[in-house]
Amino acid sequence: MSTDLDTRLASALAAAPADCVVFDLTGIAGQYDDLLRELPGVAVRFAMKACPVDEVLTCLADRGAGFDAASPAEIAQALRLGVPADLIHYGNTVKSDASIAEAHRLGVRTFATDSVQDVAAIAAHAPGARVYCRLATSGDGALWGLSRKFGCSQDDAVRVLTAARDAGLTPAGLSVHVGSQQMTYEAWQQAVDLLADAMVALRGRGIVLDHVNLGGGLPALGYLDRHGTRLEPPLDKMFAVLREGMEHLRDLNTAPLDFVMEPGRHLVADHGAIRAHVYRLTERRQPDGERVHWLYLSCGKFNGLYEMDELCHRLVFPGHSEGEHVAAVVAGPTCDSDDAYGAAHRLVPRALASGDPVWVLSAGAYATSYMTQGFNGFGPLPHTSAQDGSDRREAAA
Ligand SMILES: *Cc1c(COP(=O)(O)O)cnc(C)c1O
Repeated sequence: MSTDLDTRLASALAAAPADCVVFDLTGIAGQYDDLLRELPGVAVRFAMKACPVDEVLTCLADRGAGFDAASPAEIAQALRLGVPADLIHYGNTVKSDASIAEAHRLGVRTFATDSVQDVAAIAAHAPGARVYCRLATSGDGALWGLSRKFGCSQDDAVRVLTAARDAGLTPAGLSVHVGSQQMTYEAWQQAVDLLADAMVALRGRGIVLDHVNLGGGLPALGYLDRHGTRLEPPLDKMFAVLREGMEHLRDLNTAPLDFVMEPGRHLVADHGAIRAHVYRLTERRQPDGERVHWLYLSCGKFNGLYEMDELCHRLVFPGHSEGEHVAAVVAGPTCDSDDAYGAAHRLVPRALASGDPVWVLSAGAYATSYMTQGFNGFGPLPHTSAQDGSDRREAAA
């Protein structure tokens, strides 16, 4: 789980003749293996929205991962890659009648829910399906809380899963999502407590679950804070809390309990990078009188760096490690003022020239999925996989 620039990624970035996103499939496979080593027995359902790239999905499917899909189109993509329907669940609580019916037609039998209205629709359009109810979490401690739009209270979870049972569905489980890029282990502890209370309440109504879905939220390790220092989420402590929590929940259940997890960012972020290039380094006096350097890149919020106003990526300027550096605001190429790193100034080489390559590290999550069709004429980036001879030999051996 090293966050240093991987040699496979570096050589693919160096070899890229034009802007693109590079994925290191060997690194992603290793990250998946590491996760299973930390959380033995957990079934991974990769959250497709984090990286809906065929090669990445195939790489994970080859290692046994299933998929968390949020729409019939994501389900169809996973099926097209040969993923069995029973390894795909419909993890979005927001669904129309038509999307439920289509998912059911495609063979999906497990659905997330959080309301009696959605349960009634699942019973009508996916009769007999398995449902799990998403509990709301505060989202505190995460860079993206995902809190208000999804999930219900414990009381509502009892109502929702009772309604599911009464409608001929299987009330199979509970889920949580602690918020994306969750930075605290306490959030996981609170999630376990919430799940435990809900399980006990459900048992009181004669509902015994067969699985708990711990959601996504595990962090990437390569992001920087607004001062350019690497974020250091307490990942080992998170895993320890999760292992203990799973044991506790198993003890509470009167039937065997399986665990599912839906990591997105954690599996792919640090194993993808963007090859972009310099538009121009400028210096201007701002209205408040301050002289500010601006570094404009070929890529920004609308073509690969959607999250740039919330977090910072490490930037590498090949060939410019020596020489004078200046503090600059770094921004994307469009005429939108949100298309910029919202953070403080970054140190960049003064000698940067238009056209020089720039590498944006830890950009493997939510890069391709959030790209617009071509806002302001800046098109989405193509993607490619990093490889080297030694890995191919390893894979063949
Ligand atoms: C987005 C999402 C995930 C993945 O979240 P990460 O923070 O990328 O791990 C998992 N489950 C659901 C339901 C999601 O919406």
